[in-house]
Amino acid sequence: MHEMSLAESMLQIIEDSASSNRFARVKTVWVEVGQLAGVEPEALRFCFDAVTQNSVAEGAQLEIIETAGEGRCLSCGKTVNLAQRYDPCPECGGYPVEVTGGTEMRIKELEVD
Ligand SMILES: [Zn+2]
Repeated sequence: MHEMSLAESMLQIIEDSASSNRFARVKTVWVEVGQLAGVEPEALRFCFDAVTQNSVAEGAQLEIIETAGEGRCLSCGKTVNLAQRYDPCPECGGYPVEVTGGTEMRIKELEVD
């Protein structure tokens, strides 16, 4: 389950931010997760709760914002929304569609005390 290592790196970013911005408590974490990132939101939530115990983010609310997958069709050249990797182009039905967005995960905002 790679959500555990993702949750750990999120905590690392939060703790770095806590020491440079001098806050002691995180109340809410907004995280953007691309539709093609292969992240299971419920699993991420579970892992986040587990790794943040006894940290500045203990008990913090995790708000997951799913961002759409995006790709460029190599047949018709259009940029299209992609719900899943290896889906055909929704415009022309062609293959392959090169994935150009929606594969990453990043912390967007922290609400802190
Ligand atoms: Zn196409």
